[in-house]
Amino acid sequence: MRLDLTERVALVTGAGRGIGRAIALTLASAGATVIVNYHKNSSTAESTVAAVAANGATAQAIQADVSSTEDVERMFKTILNSYGRLDILVNNAGITRDTLLLRMKEEDFDAVIQTNLRSVYLCAKAALRPMTKQRAGRIINITSVVGLTGNAGQANYAAAKAGIIGFTKSAAREMASRNITVNAVAPGFIETELTDVLRDETRATVLESIPLGRLGQPQDVAGLVCFLASDAAAYITGQTFSVDGGMVM
Ligand code: NAP
Repeated sequence: MRLDLTERVALVTGAGRGIGRAIALTLASAGATVIVNYHKNSSTAESTVAAVAANGATAQAIQADVSSTEDVERMFKTILNSYGRLDILVNNAGITRDTLLLRMKEEDFDAVIQTNLRSVYLCAKAALRPMTKQRAGRIINITSVVGLTGNAGQANYAAAKAGIIGFTKSAAREMASRNITVNAVAPGFIETELTDVLRDETRATVLESIPLGRLGQPQDVAGLVCFLASDAAAYITGQTFSVDGGMVM
């Protein structure tokens, strides 16, 4: 089965590197025009745009802090002015500020909730307007297996990621009558800059808990996201899918 996203416009938040970059490249390889959102790092975003262009598809980088109402409004205005539509939204941008609860500062809690959860609300709400008009749309939220299981040292992150799962189900119920599906993807341990900071012993312990016997790659997540964005997933909504080598089952 070839997934065809020709003539679809997709926004991927945090698409300069890691999982977001792989998602942007995969959606583009299926024919979508891709908006590559970034926050601080314009050079990685431009490199994603160049990689998409090298494969013969169209991409554009747009700077926006997805936790900021003004930035999100500006980004959606730019997209709708340029393309007149939005078919696929992938809420991927995320950060960690890991520490044990006793030591967790309010700013560490707030930053993670703002960037990982508030952003999903802001971008989904902005996307619903064009999608409702089009009577079609796909929203895919990147959560984490930590949102399902919890994890010591990640109370802020787990709260945000569990929040995304509840948000996904509620939005899916609200938007189903408009033919807009909303799903979540929960990666396990994927090798990116986010996980590069973890110590070797932590990585070894994680590896022991993965039945498939390897850490995940961004591409492992991107394939599922592309499927969920396609017509093949038309009858799937409100679900959370783990991509974790069998870590959580
Ligand atoms: P990453 O390599 O650290 O990349 C994160 C991206 O998010 C960066 O491109 C960054 O953009 C962007 N970003 C951060 N804050 C932003 C903001 N306020 N506005 C817009 N963009 C922002 O992370 P990753 O590993 O690819 O993770 C991607 C998503 O998957 C995250 O939601 C993460 O929680 C989730 N996830 C990852 C794993 C894993 O094992 N890697 C597991 C489960 C879930 P700039 O560089 O421009 O600042």
